Amino acid sequence: MNIAALALCSAELELLALLAAAVLEHTEAVDTLCNLVALGSKDKFAAAKPRTEQTASKYNAAKLALKKHHLEHNCVTGQVQQYLPSLIH
Ligand SMILES: [Zn+2]
Repeated sequence: MNIAALALCSAELELLALLAAAVLEHTEAVDTLCNLVALGSKDKFAAAKPRTEQTASKYNAAKLALKKHHLEHNCVTGQVQQYLPSLIH
């Protein structure tokens, strides 16, 4: 999906950028955790787990912020509705 090609309100675009950053950050944190499981490093896993939980919270907050914006602003376009459910629901 080319987000730049969609007609989005500026606040929605900003929230989408935050969501994308949060998804990336959380994916990286989960990836790190998975590698530590594969290595069998319990201490490093325990040390890395809080960051993964923080990134999950950030991701959930970004999803909620976007949903809230759509409800309040009623600006969600047909194209966005087509692509977003897999990300935010
Ligand atoms: Zn909007």
